Amino acid sequence: MRSHPPAEKPASSGEATNPRGFLGVFAYSRRALDLVWTTNRALSIALALLTLFAGLLPAGIAYVGALIVDAVVHAAGVHQRTGATEINRVLMFVGLEALLMAAMAFAQRGISLAQNLVRAQLGQRVNVMILEKALTLDLTQFEDSEFYDKLARARREASSRPLSLVMRTFSVLQNLVSLVSVGGLLVGFSPWAVVLLVLAGLPAFLAEAKFSGAAFKLMRWRAPESRMQLYLESVLAREDHAKEVKLFELGPRLLDRYRDIFSQLYADDRSLTIRRDSWGLGLGLVGTAALYGGYAWIAVRTVLGAMSLGQMTMYLMLLRQGQTAVTAALTAVGGMYEDNLYLSNLYEYLEQPVPVHAGTAVKGTVPGDGIRFENVSFVYPGAGSAALTDITLHIRPGQSLALVGENGSGKTTLIKLLTRLYNPTGGRILLDGTDLRDWDDGTLRRRTGVIFQDFTRYQMIVGQNIGAGDVRSFDDEVRWRRAAEQGLAADFVGQLPGGYHTQLGKWFKDGRELSGGQWQKIALARAFMRSDADILVLDEPTAAIDASAEAEVFGHFRELTRNRIAIVISHRFSTVRMTDQILVLEEGRIVERGSHESLMAADGRYAKLFTLQARGYR
Ligand code: ADP
Repeated sequence: MRSHPPAEKPASSGEATNPRGFLGVFAYSRRALDLVWTTNRALSIALALLTLFAGLLPAGIAYVGALIVDAVVHAAGVHQRTGATEINRVLMFVGLEALLMAAMAFAQRGISLAQNLVRAQLGQRVNVMILEKALTLDLTQFEDSEFYDKLARARREASSRPLSLVMRTFSVLQNLVSLVSVGGLLVGFSPWAVVLLVLAGLPAFLAEAKFSGAAFKLMRWRAPESRMQLYLESVLAREDHAKEVKLFELGPRLLDRYRDIFSQLYADDRSLTIRRDSWGLGLGLVGTAALYGGYAWIAVRTVLGAMSLGQMTMYLMLLRQGQTAVTAALTAVGGMYEDNLYLSNLYEYLEQPVPVHAGTAVKGTVPGDGIRFENVSFVYPGAGSAALTDITLHIRPGQSLALVGENGSGKTTLIKLLTRLYNPTGGRILLDGTDLRDWDDGTLRRRTGVIFQDFTRYQMIVGQNIGAGDVRSFDDEVRWRRAAEQGLAADFVGQLPGGYHTQLGKWFKDGRELSGGQWQKIALARAFMRSDADILVLDEPTAAIDASAEAEVFGHFRELTRNRIAIVISHRFSTVRMTDQILVLEEGRIVERGSHESLMAADGRYAKLFTLQARGYR
């Protein structure tokens, strides 16, 4: 395991996605809209129309309100002469207002309905985008903690943020439409009233934007801590860790650590929340004061006889609605800022350049030449020293190779280079005479089959755990059975309650756990699924089987793969001695090479280790 580099410094991490000034608020709205539009066009159109409709209604309601009051005043004035028509007029306006209110309720329900439907689709879509991107990434990128943070952040809020941004964008539009229609009527009173309306909301908006930015930065800085919390959660609450956590009594200790991280994060949160809400309250009061200033102004003008009671009612209503619209629009803009920052992170992740494997070769220039390493060296990104230095080797089809060496001597790294999970930092690797980099990705993958020592134990049924070795036959029961026989797994699989359909692992209902040795047989069977592969690699997948059984498994493996290239990493000399060529690695270099006999005759490192192990068995 390699440890992650220390947490990023706050100063540098915030800058990467710093919103480009105020306009940054809208920078990603277009893309979010685009996302919604392409997710579901019909719903997008419905959403837009309803939003526009809902934006126009408040002004209409205020306008009808004025008509009602004026009609009432008028009716009261003419009461002695006529009655019925005046009353009908009033009732008609009241009815109209009731209709408008009903329309408003309809629009709001409709918006919420459309939103809920889009939310589900959009969340799924963004998650799929994130996962699809993950499939194109290099192993190197997964091992890069900074990049991993981006991925974790993108996933965390994937289902809520994009829709939230769209809804807020719509909310801003709706309230702008309201504001324009309200403003249009309010200008009749005084243009300054409109100016007052807008200015009163501005300070609150500035504060909101500032604090949203701060909240996002906070979230970014502490991505490493949050990830540590998630990790501790998984260690404390997952079945595969439970055994050790219990026996080593690690629980309370790790839980303390979990609590400490929270306290530290909470302290930051609290201070930000308090500041945010205090400013919000103060500046909100400024808005209220401005509103009531406007009220007083309108009331005084009415008393002075500048307008009718109906007009006064309308202007007061407009002012109130206008202020509600301003507040709602500004709150939405504040939230948009946060959503934008989130989306910037999402797109930063989605647009992370992926290394292109430009290779197209499906055949080598020297077919049948096998694998050649020519002075290959490799340094892990960010590592101080080379994991492999100056490796030269050649294996032909039909030959087998064993890699021997202490832990950390570079055996697995060599396999990672061979399978192009990494590219060498020096020298080159040839397959059938053609540089690995020039090989077509799919062809290369189909030609190689690797079972690593930390092979994946899928929480799926037994058959699929075997079928995973060849995606094209993932669900092919006949092939599962054949591979299981070859991997010596058929016997115990037959004894499982559901046979090949037994669920493995403890995550799902009726899941069965296998012993380490049984899992390794599943892994071996998985290797045999790759019947097309002509290069097969076993990286210590049989360590949990005893030495003689391993030798038997490998002998059997060798028989079934006679005309292919077989590479095995093992600490068991009973297995190693069966191979044609043995490489002894030390600190990333080949220190000895040859067949078992020649290495024994040379009486070097290999011979010493062999004798040591052989003595253990006597
Ligand atoms: P072996 O398989 O012989 O036990 P490895 O090939 O796994 O050894 O490791 C060789 C060296 O490379 C070790 O020093 C190890 O610490 C380092 N190493 C392995 N994997 C990584 C990685 N993903 N990132 C950085 N260094 C690594």
